[in-house]
Amino acid sequence: MKLDETHAPDARCWVPGADTSADFPVQNLPFCLFSTGDLGPRAGVAIGSSLIDLGAFLHSTGHDADSVLAELCAGPLNALLASGAEVRGALRRRLFAILTDPSRRGEIEPFLVPMAEAELHVPCEIGDYSDFYAGIHHATRVGRLFRPDNPLLPNYRHIPIGYHGRASSVVVSGTPVRRPAGQIAGPEGPRFQPSARLDHEFELGILVGPGNLLGHPIPISEAADHIAGFTLLNDWSARDIQAWEYQPLGPFLAKSFATTLSPFIVTPEALAPFRCPAFPRGKDDPAPLPYLLDPQDQAEGGLSLTLETFLSSAAMREQGMKEVRIASQSATNLYWTPAQMIAHHSSNGCNLRPGDLLGTGTISGEGQDEAGSLLELTDGGTRPITLPTGETRTFLLAGDRLRLAARGERPGFRSIGFGPCVGEIIG
Ligand code: CA
Repeated sequence: MKLDETHAPDARCWVPGADTSADFPVQNLPFCLFSTGDLGPRAGVAIGSSLIDLGAFLHSTGHDADSVLAELCAGPLNALLASGAEVRGALRRRLFAILTDPSRRGEIEPFLVPMAEAELHVPCEIGDYSDFYAGIHHATRVGRLFRPDNPLLPNYRHIPIGYHGRASSVVVSGTPVRRPAGQIAGPEGPRFQPSARLDHEFELGILVGPGNLLGHPIPISEAADHIAGFTLLNDWSARDIQAWEYQPLGPFLAKSFATTLSPFIVTPEALAPFRCPAFPRGKDDPAPLPYLLDPQDQAEGGLSLTLETFLSSAAMREQGMKEVRIASQSATNLYWTPAQMIAHHSSNGCNLRPGDLLGTGTISGEGQDEAGSLLELTDGGTRPITLPTGETRTFLLAGDRLRLAARGERPGFRSIGFGPCVGEIIG
């Protein structure tokens, strides 16, 4: 992954607040889909607490090539995501050059929109959503709850496990999450009732860029080129519905009632400083099969990001208390790289399309408080966590507000963030 002038930690931006922005300094420049007042959804680029109206800016330059690109900025971002790494990288360097040169302020300033005045949307039309299970400590810990002697099934270290999720219920951060009802097993047989074990799952979302034609797998050596960017993803899960329905075909209604996505697509270019080697395999682990093995991917296909989960209850907010951090872990705990997920998903010829969404699977570390779900944080609901009000939680209750956050941090580089991934439980 190439570093260039856009990663300079001392670069300064003339947009007010950009240099002190925790998430969106000029080294980040993530894409989003936003609308304002009477103007419908269109492409934006976040800088500080503002958005650049990308299409309007491109139209203003008068260049033919910009007009073509500007056409891709109207409506959901699928076509923009499909344009690939070269177009994306050139646009990044160009925006960076203008945003760091006060003498060129007039070129972009007319197209800045305060983020507070914009409504953010799911950034693209998600044709398909697949969810992996690549967080090895999550898989081990959850496996142990069900199979104490045999937590990790033998296929886990050979194949990136996944299932086909539901795209229609992917919602943007801030959308309330309604507690689902479903079939839940009980001593006198199953009953249809509201879930009592509503949980979150901290994952990264991967948005597909160019994609592949049906019947033409993406080689692992090219897989990274098909990733347009990353988001935060909360795969809300009703554990009691899941426990009854998941055998033999896997999760179904326990997860399809809502999946929350953060609105900002952080690009592979912005994440270049935060790449790291693939998960270090133990000496007894099998090597990945050749179609999943690429030297460059092994060397830098991982992501070193700090992930944090925050929770506030309705009572906490009524008493003016701030949210509390309930977990912190690293994305280095993904056993499979995003490129391996892309290569595996397309390996049977399945076509991935621009804007398709892949979830990485819940990311947890080894420590008790390094967990991406309440199921793990509370040991299957047996060890409640205590909130500052004295309330306790095993699973989520009405009024609970959960926020996922992620940061790239590395000495010598400006740290960047992903923006919020928030959902409040209704019912
Ligand atoms: Ca999941």
